[in-house]
Amino acid sequence: MDSTVYSESMQKLIGELSRLPGIGSKSAARLAYFIVNCDDDYPARLSEAITGAKMNLRHCSVCHNITDQDPCPICSDMGRDHSTICVVEQAKDVIAIERTRGYRGVYHVLGGALSPMDGVGPEELKITELVKRITPEVREVILATSLGVEGETTAMYLARMLSPLGVRTTRIARGLPSGADLEYTDEATLANALDGRREII
Ligand code: ZN
Repeated sequence: MDSTVYSESMQKLIGELSRLPGIGSKSAARLAYFIVNCDDDYPARLSEAITGAKMNLRHCSVCHNITDQDPCPICSDMGRDHSTICVVEQAKDVIAIERTRGYRGVYHVLGGALSPMDGVGPEELKITELVKRITPEVREVILATSLGVEGETTAMYLARMLSPLGVRTTRIARGLPSGADLEYTDEATLANALDGRREII
């Protein structure tokens, strides 16, 4: 960004907006002009929504999904099948699976995938917390980590951890393109991948 072109306030706004994922300096400038040209109270509502979300959102103490109530609405829903736990990498994967409308179990959000190259070991993920959730009432754990190298490594690691606990452990089917992120997978393909899950051990 050419800092001589913009006023100091504008430069600051563009700078903050361009930190958002997928927003380059041109898009950031366009958004900044939109915001400052709004006549109504949109800028105030936008900043309030951002601050409010950051203040109210937390991780569910049971499944570690992002929520503004703890336990989250999924964990609190007695109409759901609490004997089936679907393990995903990120909170956004929960949204992707919920969109299929086919899954009625509960979730466990790991907070990432194993990646020794990036310094992400088992301690960095909510793996101990998952193992603690495996009570005799839990009948199945579905490993729905992504289908890239890191997701597969994580699934194999979890399968080995869960094996001595005697719980049925399944892996989503490979109908998805290799390396596919759940969030970019269409609902029908994701629903098929869940339906076609197989025992991993
Ligand atoms: Zn929860």
